[in-house]
Amino acid sequence: MYASSVFAVDYERLWARRGVRALVFDIDNTIVPFDTEKPTEEAVRLFRSLAARGFRLCLLSNNGRSRVERFAERLGVDSVHRALKPGPWGARRALARMRASPGHTALIGDQVFTDILCGNMMSFYTVLVRPVSARDEFTVRLKRGAERGVVAAYKKKWRKHRMARELRNYMEIFVDQSIGGILDGIEGVCRCDDCVTDMKALALNILTPKYIATQKGDLYSRVDAMRQQFEVDVVQAVTKAAAVVARYPRHQDN
Ligand SMILES: [Mg+2]
Ligand SMILES: [Zn+2]
Repeated sequence: MYASSVFAVDYERLWARRGVRALVFDIDNTIVPFDTEKPTEEAVRLFRSLAARGFRLCLLSNNGRSRVERFAERLGVDSVHRALKPGPWGARRALARMRASPGHTALIGDQVFTDILCGNMMSFYTVLVRPVSARDEFTVRLKRGAERGVVAAYKKKWRKHRMARELRNYMEIFVDQSIGGILDGIEGVCRCDDCVTDMKALALNILTPKYIATQKGDLYSRVDAMRQQFEVDVVQAVTKAAAVVARYPRHQDN
């Protein structure tokens, strides 16, 4: 997949269509320019919403400990520094930290010959993003010449996806994202797949659907913007649904 930035990646597609549950991020020129000291507010918000969605997250950087750990702390995620990408050693450590398997992991980075190569060798799903820095390290710039052709091929392959608009019921995404947290606050509720699916169905029948047409990547910012407006409704609907399912559970008795 190709995206113009980490903010434009269609994480919902990764989750729903690719089964991705763990995300590995490069830092330099992927999340921020290599000379930016700390993550931006926008980046903090993105990582918060990805964590809320249920993704396990880890930074994977060839940079040194102090910078990488500073980012990890502010973003509230795990990290592996001096990863020696494209070698597999750091990526394996990242998997262990996240307790993730390669088939459910995506790597997001700006460099074909370090990030994407590493991800492909690990059998991760890979997402190439446009480097965020105009100014660039000299060595990185040298490599970029060779990368240009590969990047062009990547972009071409993903152009049709970038254009595609999808019709999504926002409420469904919201319920998916928040049902875990809401059920945490309700005592004695069954969390088996059958019951949770029944609760989602009931909650969504209570809630008025809110359809949004999104372009790849828009989804997360749209969902974030609408969160406050509908939070109370969603909590009420899920709570009501949980009460109904608790009274009439349809799961198989063991
Ligand atoms: Mg980078
Ligand atoms: Zn159950």
